[in-house]
Order: sequence, then structure tokens, then C-alpha cells
Amino acid sequence: MGKIIAIANQKGGVGKTTTAVNLAAALGLKKKKTLLVDVDPQGNSSSGVGVDRRRQKSTVYHVLLGETKAQDVVVKTGFDNLDLIPSSMDLAGAEVELIERDHRESILRSALAPLRDRYDFILIDCPPALSIITTNALCAADTLLIPIQCEYYALEGLSQLMNTVRRVKRQYNDKLDVEGVLLTMYDGRLNLTQQVVDEVKKYFPRKVYSTVVPRTVRLSEAPSFGKPIQYYDRTGKGSAAYDGLADELLRNQ
Ligand code: ADP
Ligand code: MG
Repeated sequence: MGKIIAIANQKGGVGKTTTAVNLAAALGLKKKKTLLVDVDPQGNSSSGVGVDRRRQKSTVYHVLLGETKAQDVVVKTGFDNLDLIPSSMDLAGAEVELIERDHRESILRSALAPLRDRYDFILIDCPPALSIITTNALCAADTLLIPIQCEYYALEGLSQLMNTVRRVKRQYNDKLDVEGVLLTMYDGRLNLTQQVVDEVKKYFPRKVYSTVVPRTVRLSEAPSFGKPIQYYDRTGKGSAAYDGLADELLRNQ
């Protein structure tokens, strides 16, 4: 049975999508069958693997509304062992449309259940909010991976995230666990960085990956070519970081 990992942090711009796309591609290159599920209305992980979501008839939006089966919206990406469930802009309205539904927090979990045995890993790229969509991802997930940007106020908002995790555990998914915490946009030249790393390690004892993702312009360029970093700059340090993260994640299983 495949493991479902939600990539979550309600702060925007911390590297969730970059991590979802490049970790998924790294796992695929290691022969792990991987499904990337884009539940952010912005759709950056869909375009990041070269899928034009405007051309998709059905997306995760239709899955959440119960109009389509998840297995019917899976698209192949053209990258090794990497499939995608694309998002759609309509997803922004799904919050409101779901409010009236019964079991609205567990729709994604039920929808992904039939896909679990087809993949080794299912990674869910969450939107930057503690919304019904994020709750759906946390209900569906076995674990969550939290990217944290090395900057001032890095820990800001984490207590709200962990409160949401505790609530989801209590109400819907008692097995939900933290997979790991990933430090992103690391710049060793800044004194501040080490301070942030120490704080994060104190907050999440034994959960912080020893792999850190450096700040590199290559990682920010790759999405505009619709390619994961391993297919855009194979020998660069961004590629090496996500390859290292995939190894570390696999060792932890
Ligand atoms: P989120 O999904 O959490 O909002 P993104 O992954 O979209 O965050 O990252 C926010 C911005 O920072 C994007 O423009 C992305 O290309 C860039 N970025 C992410 N990680 C790095 C990195 N390690 N080095 C340089 N730029 C990065
Ligand atoms: Mg994102």
C-alpha cells in the first residue's frame, strides 16, 4: 500500500510546491511509483510538471465535489514514474461548496483510497491556508512533511498548524504523524540561518531532515520550463538536495 504524505504549511512561499514537485520526481527516478496531487487552486505543481490544467476536462475539483473518480483524473507527466492529479482554479470556490456536505473533511481520503495500491508514494501539495482543502489533505495523509523557510519568523504560524494537526488526529485520523521537517532556501552565508535551524530543531526534536535545500535560482527557474529540477539542472545543488531528501525519506520508512 502506498504512503500518502501531505506537504503542508499554511504560510505561502516556504517551498511546499517546490518540494512536492522535486521530491516526487526524485522518488520517481528511484523507481518508486509516485502520484502528485495538486490541491492548491494556484496549480503551481501541475504546471511545474508540465501539465496545462486549462486543458484538463476534470481535475481534483471535480473529485472533491464527488463528480469524478480520482482514478479518472490521473494524468501521466512524461517524467519517470510520476503521475499527477491536476488542480483547477475552480478549487478556490470549493471551500464554499463543501461547507454543506456531510463528511466534508474525508472526501479526499475516500477518493484516494482506490489509488493507494497503485503507487508507492502519493504526495499532496497543499494550499497556503488551514482550509477545508488542507484538512482534507491531512485527513487523507499518513504523514505530513513540513517545509520551513530559513528566515525571520520561521516558526510563526507553526503552532496553528500543529493545532490543526492535533484536531485532525483527534477527530478523523488518529494515525497522522509528522514525516519530517525540511529546511528550505538555506543560505549558509547568513548568520540568521543557523539561528533558525537551531530553533526549528528545538521545536521539532528528531524530525528535522539533515538534508537542507539551498537557495538556488535554478530551483526557481525550473517551473517555467514545466520540469522538475532533475530534468532541468541534473547536476546542480538543487537536484542533489532533493535527491538527498528522497534517500533520507526512504531510509526512514
Ligand atoms: P509554496 O508552495 O510554499 O508557496 P513555492 O515552492 O512555490 O512555495 O516557493 C515560493 C517561491 O520561492 C517560488 O517562486 C519558488 O520558485 C521559490 N523557491 C522555492 N524554493 C527555492 C529555493 N530553494 N531556492 C530558490 N528559490 C526557491
Ligand atoms: Mg504552493
